[in-house]
Amino acid sequence: QAKGQGRNMFHYYTSSLTIAAAEKLRLEGRMRRALELDQFLVYYQPQISLLGDGIIGAEALIRWIDPEKGSVSPGDFIPAAEECGLIGAIGDRVLEASIKQMRHWMDDGIHLEKLAINISPRQFRLYDVPERIADLLHRYNVPADRIELEITESALMEHGERAGQALQTLKEIGIRLAIDDFGTGYSSLAYLKRFPIDALKIDRSFVMDIPGDESDAQIAQAIIAMAQSLKLKVVAEGVETEAQLRFFRERSCDYAQGYLISPAIPADKFADFVRSYLQMSGF
Ligand code: C2E
Ligand code: MG
Ligand code: MG
Ligand code: MG
Repeated sequence: QAKGQGRNMFHYYTSSLTIAAAEKLRLEGRMRRALELDQFLVYYQPQISLLGDGIIGAEALIRWIDPEKGSVSPGDFIPAAEECGLIGAIGDRVLEASIKQMRHWMDDGIHLEKLAINISPRQFRLYDVPERIADLLHRYNVPADRIELEITESALMEHGERAGQALQTLKEIGIRLAIDDFGTGYSSLAYLKRFPIDALKIDRSFVMDIPGDESDAQIAQAIIAMAQSLKLKVVAEGVETEAQLRFFRERSCDYAQGYLISPAIPADKFADFVRSYLQMSGF
């Protein structure tokens, strides 16, 4: 009986592996087609200053609008794109679209302090990201210090050596660097002094249960204090309630973003949002 079960297990695993492999291939095919058909869009989520009141920037977030499946979440395809090597091409679309958009906004009188762009670990390691961005900044005449790249701490730790060089190049160009999902990756903090980092983004998992959860509140407060003493900017991610916004404002967190302010929206809506926000806050 046990032996029989073992054999069944074996069959079960092989077939589920085959299914997983086939699904991956299908997803890869769909991503290639989506690139050809230009189905990847970039949406923008506003970031506000908690010291003043204005919108100071935007985070570019990729959207895949698939005619069959509807909107596919980046969490469901970015890891696959990394694995099959399409992250270079997909990441390039995001870089070009968002930097070009920054140019349009500047021409329309919308001047953001920063455009934040997510870079995944493998993209950062393999695809000459600093050089590509430098080229786009030149092409669209956008100042380098308006661009902030978001990478995770695990990306930094896993690719220490290469990452170090790329970060140095970024720094020389004048591009800023933020650690995304801060507090969820490796626990070594040594990289904070080893690498030229400008900002920390407090992960949404710590923000979610504030102010109710005492330990999350303490962690968030500790991150803010550490950022301040290291002269780094700090951003609260995933702010959904007024109480959370107040919590971060009272603790002198620099910036916030989240559904309370706005989800990620298309570029034209973003421009409208900035204009109405300016009127609302009486600027
Ligand atoms: P992330 O960079 O940490 O982005 C924050 C995610 O939280 C976004 O999900 C955003 O829509 C969502 N979010 C923002 N505010 C709130 C809130 O108040 N509540 C909740 N529940 N969620 C909120 P999204 O757009 O699905 O992106 C997921 C992840 O995919 C991103 O996490 C980022 O790691 C990755 N990603 C997105 N766009 C790109 C891209 O262009 N390139 C790369 N390499 N990765 C990307
Ligand atoms: Mg991010
Ligand atoms: Mg994040
Ligand atoms: Mg994330």
